[in-house]
Amino acid sequence: MDKESVDVFINQIRGFLKEEQIITDKDGMSHFCYDATEMRFMPDIVLLPCSSEEVSKIMKLASRLDLPVTPQGGRTGLSGGALPVHGGLVLSLLRMNKILEIDQKNMQIVVEPGVIAEDLQIELKKYNLFFPPDPSSTVESTLGGNVAENAGYTRAVKYGVTRDYVLGLEAVLPDGEIINIGGRTVKNVTGYDLVALLIGSEGTLAIVTKIICKVLPRPAIRKTCIMYLDDLGAAADLVVTIFGAGILPCAIEFMDSMSINCVADYLPTAESLIRRDAEALVLVEVDGNHEIATDYEARRIMDLSKGFSGVIEAKYAENDEQAEKLWRIRRDTLPALKAKGKDHLEADVVVPRYRLPFLVRAIQESVATKTVKVATFGHAGDGNLHVTIQYRKRNFAELEEANELLGDIYRKAIEMGGKLTGEHGVGITAKDYMKIQMSPAEIALMKRIKYAFDPKGILNPGKIFPEESG
Ligand SMILES: Cc1cc2nc3c(=O)[nH]c(=O)nc-3n(C[C@H](O)[C@H](O)[C@H](O)COP(=O)(O)OP(=O)(O)OC[C@H]3O[C@@H](n4cnc5c(N)ncnc54)[C@H](O)[C@@H]3O)c2cc1C
Repeated sequence: MDKESVDVFINQIRGFLKEEQIITDKDGMSHFCYDATEMRFMPDIVLLPCSSEEVSKIMKLASRLDLPVTPQGGRTGLSGGALPVHGGLVLSLLRMNKILEIDQKNMQIVVEPGVIAEDLQIELKKYNLFFPPDPSSTVESTLGGNVAENAGYTRAVKYGVTRDYVLGLEAVLPDGEIINIGGRTVKNVTGYDLVALLIGSEGTLAIVTKIICKVLPRPAIRKTCIMYLDDLGAAADLVVTIFGAGILPCAIEFMDSMSINCVADYLPTAESLIRRDAEALVLVEVDGNHEIATDYEARRIMDLSKGFSGVIEAKYAENDEQAEKLWRIRRDTLPALKAKGKDHLEADVVVPRYRLPFLVRAIQESVATKTVKVATFGHAGDGNLHVTIQYRKRNFAELEEANELLGDIYRKAIEMGGKLTGEHGVGITAKDYMKIQMSPAEIALMKRIKYAFDPKGILNPGKIFPEESG
């Protein structure tokens, strides 16, 4: 944006926003120019609206002046969706952070988009309720960001993803119109499902300003077990075998040896629980309300694992504190890998669960001939793998190799009936690979939907669509 447009815009915005809601100095804005991808794009202005009406007024003005607007939540995104790649305005929803209602009788909640996921869980616990979609970024990510990305989480294998809990949304369209879609009914098949369309739209169609969700009674009992294995492929086989035995865990996660060792370095307090010599670990949790039934399920998993080829150790968490420590190992995987300080590329591929062992082995095969290092971990129960390729940016050969490997992993996942991204979204990191998965007709249809919502193309431009397709 040129300085003149910025000045015109700010003069008008001062008519309804307080000075503290407008940031234009470089220092202040530098806080909003990056997300968990660690890429940086400087906006021209950052605005912190406190209500839907303010968001609407901002959008009306931005639309009139053709200004790009990038909605932002907690900036924990891993595909760069919240980055203002075309400059313009960053609209941070962090001040719209009220839990407006907890309706215990109907097991529903109404929240503003800036509510932090963990704050909601803490509040719901007081009512013996829980909101299953709780990503590992729970301490920083917002409900608005979780809806915009259709976030997954460790318990999605049993409870489904964010989409399965959202009943209604209030949202502001790019021209400033406020819409209320869906609502508080459990059923609704009136016309097209606009709520479903906005969920996972990565802030490119509308700005979510209020969210109505269903919540569930909190399960009283959780049993957590950990298995260490001497082979990564065998870990994927174990996951498929557990489901094949008719058991539905609420979470089943896995990590490879590089992830395990990075966490061991990063979390010295968990050292006694970690086996550095293992090639893989599988973390399984079952939950329920009856001690005997839940314990029976956990025991079946342990019995199955102990007799499974490749398992070198299988153990229960003895109490909640130990279970929490085991979960910490998995939750801290990404920060632990990043703490190694190397540059990295990340894939968030997902395949049908029964294909997981094939994908894991195919990735191992590709990696075997490379010099770059690769860590694989993720939501094995969902067939969702996070593959982190570590390389040195200044080393051109490594950068090239990392990019080649990334494309190869995407292609392999898609050949196996999988998808480019299971939960992190396309954003800017995966958009150039969209054509591997989607046909030209499918991309064109998505672009027509984008145009119907945002004819001027001002909302979160530069995301999802490959560059040459606009
Ligand atoms: C350590 C770590 C662990 C993670 N674990 C998980 C995990 O288990 N599961 C998972 O799915 N993801 C995970 N992620 C990725 C990330 O946390 C999720 O994508 C999360 O949903 C992003 O929320 P946010 O509030 O940080 O959104 P941001 O990063 O700020 O934004 C993400 C996208 O949402 C859009 N957006 C934000 N708010 C709104 C709004 N109100 N209206 C419209 N669009 C909006 C933005 O424009 C952007 O496109 C993890 C990330 C990290 C760093």
